[in-house]
Amino acid sequence: MPHQIVTIPCLSDNYAFLIHDDTSGATALVDAPEPGPILDELKTRGWTLSHVLLTHHHWDHIDGLPDILAAHPAKIIGAKADEHRLPPLDLAVTEGDTFEFAGESVSILDVSGHTVGHIAFHFPDTAAVFTGDSLMAMGCGRLFEGTPAQMFASLSKLAALPDATTVCSGHEYTAANCAFAVSLGEDNATVAQRIADTADKRAKGIATVPSNLGLEKQTNPFLRSASLALQKALSMEGAAPVDVFTEVRKRKDTF
Ligand code: ZN
Ligand code: FE
Repeated sequence: MPHQIVTIPCLSDNYAFLIHDDTSGATALVDAPEPGPILDELKTRGWTLSHVLLTHHHWDHIDGLPDILAAHPAKIIGAKADEHRLPPLDLAVTEGDTFEFAGESVSILDVSGHTVGHIAFHFPDTAAVFTGDSLMAMGCGRLFEGTPAQMFASLSKLAALPDATTVCSGHEYTAANCAFAVSLGEDNATVAQRIADTADKRAKGIATVPSNLGLEKQTNPFLRSASLALQKALSMEGAAPVDVFTEVRKRKDTF
């Protein structure tokens, strides 16, 4: 059974998410940037948290947790590899692990790169993946701890999920990511259309997250290392996709 997803803007450009099951009342929070907007949303909807899912250890994804837990003593799930730098976990998970949320079997993907130990949560029935700062709308997280090859492998795992998957990522960075995509100099109508749609949404103050995995695969330069059109724009025709990804990531770091 698919579950309802609610997107909650936090801080200046973060997103947290609620996943809710109407029948049982189970509600999971993904990441905790700050308590205020999350507690407000729960109160408005009359929901009580049953689970908190943490994607990675950065402060802007966990600092709201103590105040949220004081009101909602939920079960905390995060990466075993990051147990030493995450809030105390009730369930420590690694790639391939699954746990049950209101009858849905949620699976864990290791998506290291932005940090080592970063995980994503895939809800196959809801057709959603919570990617934190790994795969983002038109972008991917900066490589603070991992290597380009690690992030390339992580993004490849995410790209292998069904195209109809909703991508719930951690930040509203899409407009800046689009400006970067333009700088790559590729002539691509689908990319141009997404850039125009993003500008239109942002001008109206509309969130561009969540996005759709099929669209990311067509337009996100970090998922298109095998695209001949992108390779041509980079003068890297025939290069190994991991090398194309490395070049695109390097350019973004100095953009
Ligand atoms: Zn982060
Ligand atoms: Fe972040």
